Amino acid sequence: MINLSNFSSIFIANWKLNGNIQFIDKYYENLLVNPKNCTVVCSPNIYLNRLKNNNINLFTGAQDVSQFNEGAYTGEISANMLSDEKINFCLVGHSERRQLFNESNEVINAKTSNLINNDIIPVICIGETLEEKETNLTKKVLAKQINESIPDGCNFENSIIAYEPIWAIGTGLTPSLDEIEEVHSFIKSINLKFERFKVLYGGSVKVSNSKDINKLDNVDGCLIGGSSLKIDEFNLIIS
Ligand code: PEP
Repeated sequence: MINLSNFSSIFIANWKLNGNIQFIDKYYENLLVNPKNCTVVCSPNIYLNRLKNNNINLFTGAQDVSQFNEGAYTGEISANMLSDEKINFCLVGHSERRQLFNESNEVINAKTSNLINNDIIPVICIGETLEEKETNLTKKVLAKQINESIPDGCNFENSIIAYEPIWAIGTGLTPSLDEIEEVHSFIKSINLKFERFKVLYGGSVKVSNSKDINKLDNVDGCLIGGSSLKIDEFNLIIS
């Protein structure tokens, strides 16, 4: 199992439904990983084995996994299959999956357990909508997501939490630095067990804001969508 405490920060690229063979070749020709940090690239599943993985500070990640382990579930990929293919990380509960594919906390909990059982590090995504933020429900929503979607077997050594306010994803909007710090420190204080968890921030991270966000005490890295598709920008963010 990868020792997450070896890294000062963890940066995860979420390509979503983007990329092709040419893009991948060019990406890895130009990718400059910082040895102090852990860099993870999450591509569409079909390309996972084309990604580079040095097993030291550069890893590959899936964007989703089945809640089932085997059986008649056409189109699904199990945690065991990801493990067979030496995939080390997997996003779970991304807001696009929660919203577009109706994933509930219970489903995310099952997926996370399957990953843990296969020694794959789940990156459990949580976040509030704009309406929830504006009605001061952020902490309540996050606490519910954490309590219901993170199984007992998760700990700071085998799992990561990503705080991604839904209204900040792909919009160019971000919470203020104070707000990010407050939410991250809240997440770590929900229960003693979460105190040592790595908590990443995601949502419109760019070259212009990444340094300030990463300097925050309770931010342990970033989950990056749009800016991870531009290798020059991604290099600057992870440097
Ligand atoms: C994401 O989809 O996880 C994400 C953070 O996207 P973006 O960086 O484009 O806001």
